Amino acid sequence: MTMRSRPVRGVVMSRYLFPATTLMVAFLFAGCSEQEAVPQAAAAVAETTVASSTFPAPNTAVPPSKADPDRVLAHLKVLAGDIGTRVAGTDGERRAAEYIATTLRAAGYTVVMEPFTFDLRYDLSAIRFTDGSLKALALTGSPEAEARGTPVMAGMGRPEDFSLRDVRGKVVVVDRGVVPFGQKAANAQGAGAVALIVVNNEDGAFRGTLGDVKVSIPAVGVERAERARLVDLAQAGGTLIVAAAAGSKQTPSQNVVGRNGEKCEAYLGAHFDSVPEGPGANDNASGIAMILELARTNRRPGLCVIAFGAEEYGLWGSQAFVKQHPMAGVRFLLNFDMVGKITDAQIVGEPALQEKVLGLLKQAGKTGFRAGQFPPFASSDHASFVSAGVPAVTFHSGDDPLIHDPRDSTANVERASIETMLAAGDLAIDGLMTAR
Ligand SMILES: [Zn+2]
Repeated sequence: MTMRSRPVRGVVMSRYLFPATTLMVAFLFAGCSEQEAVPQAAAAVAETTVASSTFPAPNTAVPPSKADPDRVLAHLKVLAGDIGTRVAGTDGERRAAEYIATTLRAAGYTVVMEPFTFDLRYDLSAIRFTDGSLKALALTGSPEAEARGTPVMAGMGRPEDFSLRDVRGKVVVVDRGVVPFGQKAANAQGAGAVALIVVNNEDGAFRGTLGDVKVSIPAVGVERAERARLVDLAQAGGTLIVAAAAGSKQTPSQNVVGRNGEKCEAYLGAHFDSVPEGPGANDNASGIAMILELARTNRRPGLCVIAFGAEEYGLWGSQAFVKQHPMAGVRFLLNFDMVGKITDAQIVGEPALQEKVLGLLKQAGKTGFRAGQFPPFASSDHASFVSAGVPAVTFHSGDDPLIHDPRDSTANVERASIETMLAAGDLAIDGLMTAR
């Protein structure tokens, strides 16, 4: 699940941190997988884009008939346990893609890695003290710059706040409110300050903008909780460094697409990247593990499988996919996002398909599902397909307080939930592929 426009605190804030620290995580567990029903990820497989005309005829060998929750859990263990954090654009994500490709090939699919790039926004802004540092967020429009100086408290940053004190060569600290951020920054620079820190006037982090105002000094915002520390340092006459470092970077990711024959009339989907905070077991190794098993037992001509990259940074993989492929005539996408911990099982997405799927589940006596809706700030990959005119829904086991948290590990996924969601997915595929 991706979080889009929630106020900058916790979850969303992490989306702006460039996940450099996660780069090495993937290798830590390499080679220490125990004996499993599902093999450990194979060594890197060189992938090339295959023109659609080269797809072999559909594999018509009869697939195994029964979906096995143990296999789902074994995939989950490789993805969220052995590989771990799978941030888009990092080696963890790439290793997960390779594991998915290997697994789909073993199930009889023709697999293509489809690369794309996405715009990774990062913010490594900080305030550094002699004895540590604290996280700051650059005000939008601030130059990437660093400055050292003694902090001076300067009220709200109005012109009269500066007329009372000499801030030349100093770091101005002002409170949020009354004056626009751009004006605070222009006033501070005009008075000779080397940097601006704006302290929030409510709890949490915030990202202000300088608007049309251009300044050459770094300008950042910090949480209200840090105010006392800045006041103390101002009184003591100590120094600090303000570093504004925010921007965006074109970053490579990939979708993994499994086809059985040349044509895709319908899709199973799930995203395989995680947030930087942790291994994303429920969000969304669970969904990937599930579609791998559903793909194995539901290999049918025309039913294709997509593992989406870079979902957490804003549905980049599914957006790339619907741009790269003709979507006219595609019958449906069944997407799976957070299916490992039932708190409120639901089908989210396009109303007609939602109703059809719920009808199929009800017919089979599965009444524990409802038509759901994500909160306005959250979404998943079905949304990209719906925007492209394809009926699409996401299977979702409900809110999870450990979403985007380091504790979303394999222990956060419950076998009973996997069993229920797997059976539901199976029923929906069968019903939809049979009904024409
Ligand atoms: Zn998520």
